[in-house]
Amino acid sequence: MSHLEGPNGDGGDPQQELKEKILEGYERLGPESTFRFSCHPGISCFNKCCADVNIFLSPYDVLRLRKRLGLSSGEFLRKYTLLPIQKDLKTPAVLLRMNDDRARTCPFLTEGGCGVYSDRPWPCRMYPLGLAAARDTPDGWRGERFYFLLQEEGCLGFGEAKEWTVREWMDDQGVEEYDRWGEAYKELTLHPHFDQGKSLTPQQMEMFYIATYDLDKFREFVFESTLLARFEVSEDLVEEMRYSDEALLEFGFLWLRFALFGEKTMKVKPHVAEAFRGQVDKQALARG
Ligand code: SF4
Ligand code: SF4
Repeated sequence: MSHLEGPNGDGGDPQQELKEKILEGYERLGPESTFRFSCHPGISCFNKCCADVNIFLSPYDVLRLRKRLGLSSGEFLRKYTLLPIQKDLKTPAVLLRMNDDRARTCPFLTEGGCGVYSDRPWPCRMYPLGLAAARDTPDGWRGERFYFLLQEEGCLGFGEAKEWTVREWMDDQGVEEYDRWGEAYKELTLHPHFDQGKSLTPQQMEMFYIATYDLDKFREFVFESTLLARFEVSEDLVEEMRYSDEALLEFGFLWLRFALFGEKTMKVKPHVAEAFRGQVDKQALARG
């Protein structure tokens, strides 16, 4: 399997060449386009594709998987992920770590197929479809997007009779919820801030990683720092964030947009804003 665009919009540099090829030559599919495909235990290639693959995980993929496995976010990230170090990465990229065996099998593969099937990551749901953004649309990543067929070598699913529309496939694979989280995440990873050649400092990268992927650590930060004393956050949301990772992740997205890009996604409490204004006034007076 290989996947062009993850739900975070970050396919990673090694796939740049494939991206160019897809934009140039692949047939563009819409929701009602049809294709033939079926993947089932009776097919002779069954399970063969779940090895030696680059699967970029979104924060929501990690949330679902670690819950499924009953691990803390830190344990999951340590055990099952890799963070590729690339100089030009704008935001953290998290890869699913394959086993160290010769075939580099996915750690979740079992004889009966995917051992985390109902919580499998977005790219595993999408295959054999890929998603790409057309180049240079005025709306950037929100503009024209299209699907295309990724036909991996040795994948016999294309020889099966079952026909799908793209829309049917997405419904069947439960992609919609993942896409909703993916869109919210793209507000960060594809932020216009980066279009101007700006990047995040190492500290900001760390903050980004914690608030999106390492949610147990982020929960500690939210409840043990002065953050809740400084910002207006409804009591219901505060309570929800104590136990709901989804609520915490949604809050993390808003917090990052405020803290990193200066968006008005958080509201400072009036007394904090007042104190800040006071400080600015004093500094202005001191400067004369
Ligand atoms: S998560 Fe499941 S579907 Fe995806 S590569 Fe691993 S075993 Fe295969
Ligand atoms: S049909 Fe394709 S997706 Fe299914 S197991 Fe075979 S190689 Fe993998």
